[in-house]
Amino acid sequence: MHLRFLLRRLSMFPLLMLSLLLLVGCDETPTGRSQLALIPEHLMAQMGEDTFEQLRRDQPISRSAPVNRQVQCVAREIVAAAEAIYPNADLPDTWEIAVFEDPSPNAFALPGGRIGVHTGLLDVAENSAQLAAVIGHEVGHVLADHGNERLTQQLGIKAGLLLVGLFGEGELGHQQLMQALGLGAQLGISLPFSRAHEEEADLMGLAIMARAGFDPRQSVSLWRNMAAAGGGQPPEFLSTHPAHGSRIKALQLAMEDAETTYRGVTRADCTG
Ligand SMILES: [Zn+2]
Repeated sequence: MHLRFLLRRLSMFPLLMLSLLLLVGCDETPTGRSQLALIPEHLMAQMGEDTFEQLRRDQPISRSAPVNRQVQCVAREIVAAAEAIYPNADLPDTWEIAVFEDPSPNAFALPGGRIGVHTGLLDVAENSAQLAAVIGHEVGHVLADHGNERLTQQLGIKAGLLLVGLFGEGELGHQQLMQALGLGAQLGISLPFSRAHEEEADLMGLAIMARAGFDPRQSVSLWRNMAAAGGGQPPEFLSTHPAHGSRIKALQLAMEDAETTYRGVTRADCTG
C-alpha cells in the first residue's frame, strides 16, 4: 500500500492510532535501555524494503562469488547468534544482505532486516571475524530498532505532537520520512545514528560475534584498520560513528565477557 495513502487512512482514527502507538511505543532495547519508538513496525519494515530495492536497482552489486560467499556466510552465522542471544527482540521476518560495488569501507542496516556491505569494507576487514564485527554491529542497529527511534526523535514525536506532526495537516511527505531515516540524498546512509545508538550497536555486535564463534578481539583490530584506512580523511563509516579511540575503549571493557562466550562455542568457519 502506498505510504501516503496509508497515513491518510490512519489519520481518520487519530485517537485509536494514538493509543495504539503509545501502547507499542514504550519499549526497551535488547540491552535494557528504554526507548521511544512510535512508528508502526510494518511501516518501518516497508520503508526499509523499498529503500533496499531502490539501492539494488541503482547501485552495482558485486558479482564476485567468493566475496558473496564470505559475506553471506558471516551474515548467516551472525543472524543465527543474534536470534539466540536476543530471543525476545523484534526480529525481522527475513534478513537480506547484499554486497554493493563501492570503494568506501562502509556498511549499513535498514529497518526490516536489510543489510548492505560495500566492497571497500572487504579491503579493510582482514578476515571473517573483522567482517563479523561490522555485520554484528549492523544487526545490532536492526534488533535495537534504532531506525524507528531515530525517526521518532527526528519527527519530535511526543504524544501530543503526534497527531499534528505525523497525521495532521502538515502531512508528512515520503521525502521527510526517508530523510529522517537517513535515506536522503546519499541514498540512504548519510544521517548518523546517535552516539548512544552506536555504542549500543557496538556492544551488541561484540556479544553477537562472540556467540557466533568469531574472535571478539578482532573487533578492535577492525576499528583500528578503519581508522588507518581513513588517512587524513576519515572514511564515511567512521565519520558517522564514534571516535575510534572511545569505541575501542568501550569494546575493551566488554571484552572479558565476550571472550568467555567465545571460548564456550564452536568456532565459525567462513574462510572459503
Ligand atoms: Zn552504526
